[in-house]
Amino acid sequence: MGTKGIEIVGMDVKQLLSVLNIAFADEWLAHYQYWLGAKVAKGPMKEAVIAELLQHAADELRHADMIAARIIQLGGTPVTEPKKWYDVSSCGYDAPEDPFVGKLLEQNIKGERCAIGFYKKLLEATQGKDPVTYNIVLQILQDEVAHEEDLESLHEDLEIMLKR
Ligand code: FE
Ligand code: FE
Repeated sequence: MGTKGIEIVGMDVKQLLSVLNIAFADEWLAHYQYWLGAKVAKGPMKEAVIAELLQHAADELRHADMIAARIIQLGGTPVTEPKKWYDVSSCGYDAPEDPFVGKLLEQNIKGERCAIGFYKKLLEATQGKDPVTYNIVLQILQDEVAHEEDLESLHEDLEIMLKR
């Protein structure tokens, strides 16, 4: 916890910490959803889909790491109980119960769209008020936008293949 570093935050730090903890829970759930999806995936283009899901799983874990570091810098504590991730989460968790690659892609596209909306709001809330959090959120948002596009593009290829 850095005293001056916290002092320069031009917004309610407690409230910011609770929003950052929502993001933290979302990232862990997204990580797990991708990670497990990559294990169970079945169907056409499986190799390509699994490679993408694994890459995204690693990115979401890295996002959780970035957010945890910022929470600690601000004097907060990242959610300590995994069972609380569900209560705190904004984008939730969509269990990969159907292993079909098309279904997995759709579930994760939905998750990315939720994440994009969430981070866009947090970006606006921190703009001009907390440049450090703003910068972290911007980096994460750029990844989520790329994730959505990666998945949509794979889904499109899959649809083309299945229609022939
Ligand atoms: Fe993420
Ligand atoms: Fe993502």
